[in-house]
Amino acid sequence: MCGIVGYVGKEQAAPILLEGLEKLEYRGYDSAGIAVLSEEKELQVKKSKGRLKVLSALTDGGRAVEGTLGVGHTRWATHGEPSDVNSHPHLSSGRRIAVVHNGIIENYVEIKEFLLAQGVCFQSETDTEVVAQLLEYYYDRSGDVMDSVYRVLHRIEGAYALGIMCRDLPDAFIAARKDAPLLLGYGQGCCFIASDVTAIIKHTRDVAYMEDGEVALVRADGIQVFDALAQPVEKEHHHVDWDVSAAEKGGYAHFMFKEIMEQPEAVRKTISPRLKGGRLCFDELKLTPEEIRALNRICIVACGSSYHVGMVGKYNLERLLRRPVDVMLASEFRYADPLVDESSLVIVISQSGETLDTMAALRQAKALGARTLAIVNVVGSSIAREADGVLYTWAGPEIAVATTKAYSTQLVLLDMLGLYFAQVLGSVTEEESARIVSELQTLPAKMETVLADTEQIKYLASQYFNHSSIFFIGRNLDYALGLEGSLKLKEISYIHSEAYAAGELKHGTISLIEDGTLVVALCSYAPLFDKSVSNIVEVKARGADIVALTGESLGEELSKTAENVLTVPDTHVILQPSLGVLPLQIFAYYVALQRGCDIDKPRNLAKSVTVE
Ligand code: GLU
Repeated sequence: MCGIVGYVGKEQAAPILLEGLEKLEYRGYDSAGIAVLSEEKELQVKKSKGRLKVLSALTDGGRAVEGTLGVGHTRWATHGEPSDVNSHPHLSSGRRIAVVHNGIIENYVEIKEFLLAQGVCFQSETDTEVVAQLLEYYYDRSGDVMDSVYRVLHRIEGAYALGIMCRDLPDAFIAARKDAPLLLGYGQGCCFIASDVTAIIKHTRDVAYMEDGEVALVRADGIQVFDALAQPVEKEHHHVDWDVSAAEKGGYAHFMFKEIMEQPEAVRKTISPRLKGGRLCFDELKLTPEEIRALNRICIVACGSSYHVGMVGKYNLERLLRRPVDVMLASEFRYADPLVDESSLVIVISQSGETLDTMAALRQAKALGARTLAIVNVVGSSIAREADGVLYTWAGPEIAVATTKAYSTQLVLLDMLGLYFAQVLGSVTEEESARIVSELQTLPAKMETVLADTEQIKYLASQYFNHSSIFFIGRNLDYALGLEGSLKLKEISYIHSEAYAAGELKHGTISLIEDGTLVVALCSYAPLFDKSVSNIVEVKARGADIVALTGESLGEELSKTAENVLTVPDTHVILQPSLGVLPLQIFAYYVALQRGCDIDKPRNLAKSVTVE
């Protein structure tokens, strides 16, 4: 996600920083900035919303900013819309500290309140600024920069890669990381930090990867690294031999695969700030418990994969709330003369926040008086601005056209919202609620387990990649999951594919099943496991080959009926699709790979659909 680069050496820093940031552009960003220490020991900050060329023009390609030590940043806004003032670096009020940050400071509100009470003035709406201000607050009292950094790190919660400069530290800058990527680069008479090697590969291939909790003091002639207890650490050096294009993709062949692998982290980032001490917090919701109780209609409106999230949401919200929940395609909703009014909540879901059909549906819902809530990945996007309330997914920029991590974060966020509503309505018992919360906490780790070994899926893809038609069947949540699995497959591999509610097949589509037809049978919804197995038997009797998917505890049972069984860890039934979708994404990926398709940019598709 977004990017950090830092340089200290003998050359002018700003052009090197700008060039490094350019290499990080592919990660997606909405604004950029640099801080460079001048000879007079002033922290010079140049930053602006928009493309890097704006920053480059502002600084004459960096040549207008003198100094040989600095940090740069491309921002992907999570807190506060993209704007000049919200761009990084952030300066402390006394201009002694400059900070660039990737990630989210989860407890920034409480720190901000503390600092405001101490008379500190804030410039931006970001979570990041508290790091600069708190650091100066401690520095004022101790006069020791490293000690102040440690105190800040003990106080902040969340995920961060940080680049920190201090006016009184003229020959070094400081780096720290927790749950966000950051590496150290060792050049000839110069040293670097960077979010990934692409930013510095031109200068050095000698790198070390920072670990969570580590703090680095970066000078031109070397880097000292300390652990969370401030003890020195010997770093293992690595020689990077990737070419630049592989490096951009974190060593993976495609952005899609990289993004598939990023899902545990993205889901963790989306869950964690909203789960405090085992309790769900939705401060950003802008709906009081009374207003939630007064709702008499909930309608989810979206397109494509976001619509499939809505399908899962319908099943899960109805189960949790014991109230009817509708899900509609945005392109249909807008012309359907929809039955929503002041007592309705319309939840719109969009990765980009610019999807035209979804935007139009949102406006339509507002015009009819409904309360609107957007689930969006891009901060400050049109849908985020126009909806009454917005819940951000923190998936980070998604580059591949076929969504993976945005889907997963939307899914988990909608589940959490459903649980929160259910708690407000009292429609879920405390025990059930606690079970779901505890499963939410372990979900990212379980996702990691699924992603750790993709060999079996790769093998299955090699067996079936030349089929011309593939069916996905499942019941209840598995049906909703099948819709996404099928869409993933068709959009990147161009294989005709359909998803059916397993019980519906016999009402027509079963006539298409013949010898060797591949049916992907989803049996992860445990309450209907036996019914799903019967449906497998039906299609097998017509000659179908089966790839089946279920939770671990049912794997053995399923292998009595299905020849190929994929399993994912067991979890609470409402969260099972969050695990089940992973093998389906990977299957689609490997099938497309075998077919030689342009995986990241499939034909005829665009990432953000801003046409009707
Ligand atoms: N949370 C920070 C912000 O919104 C950092 C975002 C990033 O990782 O670029 O400013």
